[in-house]
Amino acid sequence: MSNLPRRDFMAAAAGITAATTAALMGTKSAEAGDPSFMNNVPDPLVAGKELPTFKFELEKSKGKVIGGSFGKEATVEQLPISKGIAGVSMQLEPGAMRELHWHATAAEWACVLEGRVRTTVIDPQGNAETNDFEPGDVWFFPRGHGHMLECLGNKPCHFILIFDNGYFSEFGTFSITDWLGHTPKRLLAKNFGLPESVFDGFPKEEVYFARGAVPPEKAANSLQGVKLPRETHRYQFLTEQPHRVFKGGREWRVDSTRFPISKTSTGEFLELDPGALRELHWHPTADEWQYIVEGRVSVTMFGSGGRYRTETLEKGDVGYIPQGYGHSLENVGDRLCRVLIGLNTGTYEAIDLSQWIAGNPVDVLATNFGKPAALFEKFPRKDVFIAG
Ligand code: MN
Ligand code: MN
Repeated sequence: MSNLPRRDFMAAAAGITAATTAALMGTKSAEAGDPSFMNNVPDPLVAGKELPTFKFELEKSKGKVIGGSFGKEATVEQLPISKGIAGVSMQLEPGAMRELHWHATAAEWACVLEGRVRTTVIDPQGNAETNDFEPGDVWFFPRGHGHMLECLGNKPCHFILIFDNGYFSEFGTFSITDWLGHTPKRLLAKNFGLPESVFDGFPKEEVYFARGAVPPEKAANSLQGVKLPRETHRYQFLTEQPHRVFKGGREWRVDSTRFPISKTSTGEFLELDPGALRELHWHPTADEWQYIVEGRVSVTMFGSGGRYRTETLEKGDVGYIPQGYGHSLENVGDRLCRVLIGLNTGTYEAIDLSQWIAGNPVDVLATNFGKPAALFEKFPRKDVFIAG
């Protein structure tokens, strides 16, 4: 030890600190060889005898309301288990804009449920994109990229935002009015090469939802003209045919293989017929955030050590499954149910129970369960995914 050069010792110490910190943060996606994962420091919230609740009634919460616009959020504040993903339900009234802002600590993935939305986004290379969205369309803004959202047309719009960090609050974003309102006019004048008087009457505090005229149907060019990014921020998700069709339901899925810019988020949309089951499975590399668009779903969660919890989610409720935890979703209502799911990974991965069983010889299964091998000949030979 005494012979170890000081700089090596410091490097080793720094490595230990970083690994410990990462482990304490809990739900960062694990990669092979990641020492924080090997250490497996238990998260106190999910280390008890019982699993905590994984349900939050998002649409029944009040959130932030300005005129006919609102934002309701589910972060670790409202749903403590949801450390890896936060979500927001937002409505904008005609003429309303979620002002120019960025997020220091989260990327933004969204799916439009009703109405039409226009966004602008800037990247660190100075490329800018303006896009229009309709129901079923998705956007993705990487962490820190500046953007705005505005309602298009004469009807309100409603969309679900999903953030790849459960500690991220939609009410703690870096908004342009907040920043400019707290910067001395002298500095702003110098910054833009304009007289100080230009900034007279600018808002002093964060506007958050700005209200003005309904935007033109066709977006105008930006001040700098056309300078488009290499990868688009828009993906027309639910207007496609279902990506996979099963006896009891349908699945749409968009990760970075279909939507290259979406490097830290995957969206999934499930339609389950009455009685259908998205089978028992887990995600090796991501947490899961669920929003019930329609219907009534019984969600189960298995957390090891005999810990098992079931929650019934209704329309407008949110559910959350930590990375690696077993879970299932069953339509227990009498009509179609529709679930929007967000995962904090750009590459979707799951292991389904039926597939796992099918991947083993019958003698292994016989020994494991203490039953005759012949019994396991009856099991599915491939992935079930949705059971009708
Ligand atoms: Mn945002
Ligand atoms: Mn899942």
